[in-house]
Amino acid sequence: QAKRENPGFHAFFDGTTTRTAQKRLLLEIDLRRAIDNEQLEVYFQPVVSLRDNHIIGAEGLARWQHPELGPVSPEVFISIAEESGLIRPLTETLLDKAARAMSDLSRRFDTPLRLAFNISATQLNQAHFVEETLRALDAAGLAPEAFELELTESTLMQRVGEAPRILEKLRERGVSISIDDFGTGFSSLAYLQEIRAQTLKIDKRFITDCTSNQASAQLVRSIIAMGHALDMQLIAEGVETAEQRDLLASLGCEYYQGYLFSKPLPIAAFEALLVHTRMSDAHSPK
Ligand code: C2E
Ligand code: MG
Ligand code: MG
Ligand code: MG
Repeated sequence: QAKRENPGFHAFFDGTTTRTAQKRLLLEIDLRRAIDNEQLEVYFQPVVSLRDNHIIGAEGLARWQHPELGPVSPEVFISIAEESGLIRPLTETLLDKAARAMSDLSRRFDTPLRLAFNISATQLNQAHFVEETLRALDAAGLAPEAFELELTESTLMQRVGEAPRILEKLRERGVSISIDDFGTGFSSLAYLQEIRAQTLKIDKRFITDCTSNQASAQLVRSIIAMGHALDMQLIAEGVETAEQRDLLASLGCEYYQGYLFSKPLPIAAFEALLVHTRMSDAHSPK
């Protein structure tokens, strides 16, 4: 009876689905505990200028080392956090760690380093989101001008109405907005203009084959041209080869991230990399 009325019925009682649901529930319980016990880490992936190969800052990326399961992918635990309401405390602790670390590094290296940080679009509707974000930056001693809030294009599109107004408040205070995974969502030019992001991040799927596939190369070229026409800067994600980097530089893309330069690193290793690159530039940390 129920099986006929509800197409989900069979799937729900199918062994594998139940096991997946159970696993997710157990992970949610463990994630809650990991957040409470501050077991989540933030890694920094350098953002590099395509003009002079200098590190201009980093993107903070969440990392969770589960005591039994080992590392859990952020794609998995961020989605659990979004669905369970844990995204708010998760963001709170990680943003605090990331902002403190970046403000500390900026001071010690006497250079303005930028922090990019991923925010789930669902959080834009959170009460006092703007005030709490600004307060977190202030407490960490990071200037709003050194902070870039990343929102993925696809999730942003699910919040069309309210997003521009909320983002405007942050922009007024100096925070920049960046559209992540660009090219995978379906934002209209009109919406892009309304969001008034300063940065577009070209999704890595286009970068991966931009040197082997003419269509991808054309897409990358068009995204860069469109971004520049809207007064935005571009960051290429997932750059793994020198050929990709050189093509992007020749197309006028401003920045890149990717394994070619560095994987996301524990903060201490990011700091060591800064020391190393600054020394080779004849600068040294204070
Ligand atoms: P994202 O923001 O688009 O981050 C880029 C992803 O690409 C990261 O995956 C990074 O490790 C990976 N990546 C960087 N360079 C390369 C490369 O050269 N090759 C390849 N194959 N991959 C590269 P990660 O760390 O697994 O994060 C996945 C996604 O999870 C992020 O995508 C972001 O959407 C989300 N995420 C991570 N941390 C947070 C967080 O603190 N809060 C929220 N809301 N989302 C987060
Ligand atoms: Mg991102
Ligand atoms: Mg991305
Ligand atoms: Mg992504």
